[in-house]
Amino acid sequence: MKSLIAGNWKMNGIARARSEVESLIERFGGSMPGDRDILICPPVTLLAAFAGSYSDEGILFGGQDCHAKTSGAHTGDISAEMIADTGASHVIVGHSERRADHAENDQTVKEKAEAALRAGLTPIICVGETREQRETGIAQSVVGTQLEGSLPDAMGVFVVAYEPVWAIGTGLTPTLEDISEMHDFIRSKTPEGTRLLYGGSVKPGNAKEILGISNVNGALVGGASLKAEDFFPIISAAP
Ligand code: 13P
Repeated sequence: MKSLIAGNWKMNGIARARSEVESLIERFGGSMPGDRDILICPPVTLLAAFAGSYSDEGILFGGQDCHAKTSGAHTGDISAEMIADTGASHVIVGHSERRADHAENDQTVKEKAEAALRAGLTPIICVGETREQRETGIAQSVVGTQLEGSLPDAMGVFVVAYEPVWAIGTGLTPTLEDISEMHDFIRSKTPEGTRLLYGGSVKPGNAKEILGISNVNGALVGGASLKAEDFFPIISAAP
């Protein structure tokens, strides 16, 4: 399966971040490799400009969240149709930061994923356990429940990102065995051909071994996607 390396910029990046995208393209010798998919999810303020400028260079763009409704009185929200209208192809839904900061639950995430599919976007649905849940041995059942509640009802192709909450932005990662075990489990719960990404402290130094695990089909990278000098070796490490 073709790897997908996705950068989630979170609430980072203003107009000058454009130079990081240009620097990334330069590092690949002026055109992005076609044997892997490269996706950048910048803040929505940059999404239309980036999708307009760089889609022809072989980079995909995506949103970081969408509302479940198409339009209406939802001040400050952005619908999946609006994200698709920028030229984006993907949208992240159910990131643990959204689940925690905006009280999103599995039902909300499922509605957002279905809205994304209706708009023609590929949702990247995030799941993952907390440190306490890992330590008490219930990581797999937590992720199983999240998958049951968050995945759309047979409507189209989606991506699942396994992001242990305790590994996000901490420099900590599960062991390769633990990642492998969880991805095998998620594989057993998702339709054939679903791309499964690992996210949480992916760095140039650990990308190769993580991306080499079977049933890991790519990565969702936070901090290390902000700088071309870090993101480039991660993309290059994908098999
Ligand atoms: P870090 O790579 O900064 O740990 O973030 C991971 C993440 O949350 C990507 O969505």
